[in-house]
Amino acid sequence: MYVTLGYSVAGRPIRAFVGRESGGEKIVVLGAFHGDEPKSVTVARKLIDLLDTEPQQGKGHEWVVVPIVNPDGYEARRRRNANAVDINRNFPTKNWVRSPRRSRMFSGDSPGSEPETRAVIKAVKRYRPTRIISIHSIDGRRHCNNYDGPGRAIAEAMGRRNRYPVRGSMGYPTPGSFGNWAGVERGIPTITLELPSHHSPKRCWEDNRWALFC
Ligand SMILES: [Zn+2]
Repeated sequence: MYVTLGYSVAGRPIRAFVGRESGGEKIVVLGAFHGDEPKSVTVARKLIDLLDTEPQQGKGHEWVVVPIVNPDGYEARRRRNANAVDINRNFPTKNWVRSPRRSRMFSGDSPGSEPETRAVIKAVKRYRPTRIISIHSIDGRRHCNNYDGPGRAIAEAMGRRNRYPVRGSMGYPTPGSFGNWAGVERGIPTITLELPSHHSPKRCWEDNRWALFC
């Protein structure tokens, strides 16, 4: 079943696949915070296909998958949304700061100013996940299972399956990031799965299919 969480700046729906309730972990999976990271969408859509056709593969967990958080950016293959805001710096966290509009990490005019950000907040408040996996991709062989909040054990379990390094920090500050909002400030184990941008979409899925089910 799909539900619409909200609409992008340009009016595109932000949709979530909601799997069957089953009483296990509640897992929210998010793709394409950044529109120029289409491999995140491939992996999220493959996950939806699997859960839809073989629900028993869901390991008894309740799954909510938002394959495209930022549909305007995805359509244009651009990182930011149609207001040139980096959704992953727009969350209303204590450490939110206003960054220059020209910056590729422009944080918006105010915390939570963007409809895409508010759609993600709505999903977290509505479904109350016990685990979140936010999928991105990254170059320079910096791919990893990055965690915020109490996500270390999950990141390590994923690392045993996808063979990506585990990182508690990306090595640079990320004020207003989703990981800060959900993991650090709300205590939800939050994994930022950084796919290797030099791997094919097919390989990203094959390497992570089992990691997502830890
Ligand atoms: Zn990203």
